Amino acid sequence: MGAVEGGVDVLVVGAGVAGLACAQDLVAAGVRVRVLEASDGVGGRMRTDVRDGFRLDRGFQVVNTSYPQMKRRMDLRALRLRPFTPAVLLATPRGRVRFADPTRAPRQAADLLPGRLASMRDLAGLVLMTGRDLLTPPSGLKRAPDRTTRTALADAAIGEELVETLFRPFLSGVFLEEELETSSRFFHLVWRSMLRGTLCLPEEGVAAVPEQMAAALPEGTVRLGTPVERLTEAGALTAYGDEVPASLVVVAAGPSAATALLHGLDVPPTRSVTTYYHAAPASPLGEPTLLVDTARRVLNTVVLSEVSPAYAPRGRSLVATSVLGADDRPGAEAELRAVLAELYGTDTDRWEPVAAYPVAEALPAMVPPWPLTRTSRHSLGRYVCGDYRATGSVQGAMASGARAAREVLADLRV
Ligand SMILES: Cc1cc2nc3c(=O)[nH]c(=O)nc-3n(C[C@H](O)[C@H](O)[C@H](O)COP(=O)(O)OP(=O)(O)OC[C@H]3O[C@@H](n4cnc5c(N)ncnc54)[C@H](O)[C@@H]3O)c2cc1C
Repeated sequence: MGAVEGGVDVLVVGAGVAGLACAQDLVAAGVRVRVLEASDGVGGRMRTDVRDGFRLDRGFQVVNTSYPQMKRRMDLRALRLRPFTPAVLLATPRGRVRFADPTRAPRQAADLLPGRLASMRDLAGLVLMTGRDLLTPPSGLKRAPDRTTRTALADAAIGEELVETLFRPFLSGVFLEEELETSSRFFHLVWRSMLRGTLCLPEEGVAAVPEQMAAALPEGTVRLGTPVERLTEAGALTAYGDEVPASLVVVAAGPSAATALLHGLDVPPTRSVTTYYHAAPASPLGEPTLLVDTARRVLNTVVLSEVSPAYAPRGRSLVATSVLGADDRPGAEAELRAVLAELYGTDTDRWEPVAAYPVAEALPAMVPPWPLTRTSRHSLGRYVCGDYRATGSVQGAMASGARAAREVLADLRV
């Protein structure tokens, strides 16, 4: 791609995946774009730090190969995606139970026999709901009435026992809330994407996704270390006092940063999470599988070096454990290590804390009725995008950026 020099038509504030997707689509349409990013790297919530040979995503997360936006705009092969097993391990008071996708891992699906994970009646409800979510096109799921996920599960005849053993602990890690009050439309879309796609991580960390997007932009498009302080008649004023002129501005900052730039912008409350990383001398679970605590002391834990060996230096294992809330108070790590000893059934005394990442604005709270997409048009020449304008996911953030680009292009034509 050629370099961006001189004036630009559109300024994008924020180089998270929403801003980058917007910039990608505008550039593809021949528009001159500049992206101003406050921090020292692209990716926003999808960044990876490298410390002592460990790769530490800034909060454990995964990508899904069935996300339409990932398929559309990413070179998936170049990401060298490493899959998780199509199953989760549930740590229950009766020991570990495996919830596996019987169509993809039939030999792991023995725990789906009636009586092990759930009763015959609950399993029938689960099979019916799963079949419906698999076969209904996304447009149908998006049009369905919106209620809480808890109500949707009850309506699907899934009893309390299965909700408490599987859905509540597992989905708490997806929604970052444990009351299952998140939009049922979002839940059904997530359930469908899990059944159709594969959960994975780029070999060298989640940051590979935004880095690939940024690399596809013309050189000089993204300016790092350039916080925008306020928008002006002529464009935007940076924290260093220079004005970057542009007739149209797309604000792709996170929700609280966006409210500081756009008057009257309505943003939802957010969910928070903390991911703890531990180095273990040996892998405590010999498979790339999410371990979920049905007692809900942790959201989930995973041996990341089983997913991709590049996450840890040779001879060490990296364990990522997420808990609700942005709280890394003193003492929390030691308490967590005791829980991990129980969950993995191993001595964790020699595990070393590597880092803790509290993320205050990790996801929007998607309480029903939750519109799955919102216009990006804010005021004359001002646009807004980000996951909180669609769904709290990589797919949602990219789709929101794509919508902003479509609306900008339509307005530029007028
Ligand atoms: C811990 C965690 C786990 C997650 N798990 C998953 C998962 O498993 N699957 C999934 O699909 N999604 C997951 N997500 C959600 C997904 O990462 C986000 O939805 C997505 O990255 C949001 O992208 P965004 O571009 O909307 O916002 P952001 O990534 O927040 O980007 C906003 C950017 O704007 C910049 N900025 C802010 N203010 C200014 C300013 N004044 N001037 C210039 N720049 C500014 C910020 O520095 C940032 O780079 C997770 C998120 C977190 C945090």
